[in-house]
Amino acid sequence: MIEPEAFSCKMCGHCCQGKGGIILTDKDSIRLAELLNITVKELHEQHCEQAHDEKIQLKVAEKDLYCIFYKNGCSIHPARPDICRAWPFFKGNIIDPISLNLSLDYCPGINKDIEHKTFAKQGLEYIKKKNLNHCEKNAPNALKFFPFNS
Ligand code: SF4
Ligand code: SF4
Repeated sequence: MIEPEAFSCKMCGHCCQGKGGIILTDKDSIRLAELLNITVKELHEQHCEQAHDEKIQLKVAEKDLYCIFYKNGCSIHPARPDICRAWPFFKGNIIDPISLNLSLDYCPGINKDIEHKTFAKQGLEYIKKKNLNHCEKNAPNALKFFPFNS
């Protein structure tokens, strides 16, 4: 029997709205600066702010709290940060069924009808395949899958 997909994005944009959280890894900054044809320093000065824990995050618009790169969809899609590529397969959702349950209301793309263990299995496969696991100090905690790395 074919296993149902744990996630299929409905393009609602919910995950692009909210204060903070779009933390950039060093590689994200380099990739996005290249796309925008600016330096990493200019990227950080113009489009980012420091998170409370000194990580670098993308700014959000004051009026509606959408990510500044959200324009009826992601305007930087080819260079979007790893944290955007990884959602909803964040570490919390993969290790904790309660966290996944809370995410169901937020993200209509998550399949409500599958068991947590299926979500976790598909999520880890996706994270490994896309190389989205991070151990660097300044990376988002949601992507620190170690010791799941293998
Ligand atoms: S909240 Fe879920 S369904 Fe909506 S755009 Fe984000 S990932 Fe896709
Ligand atoms: S970078 Fe793109 S996908 Fe990520 S929050 Fe901003 S608009 Fe959404």
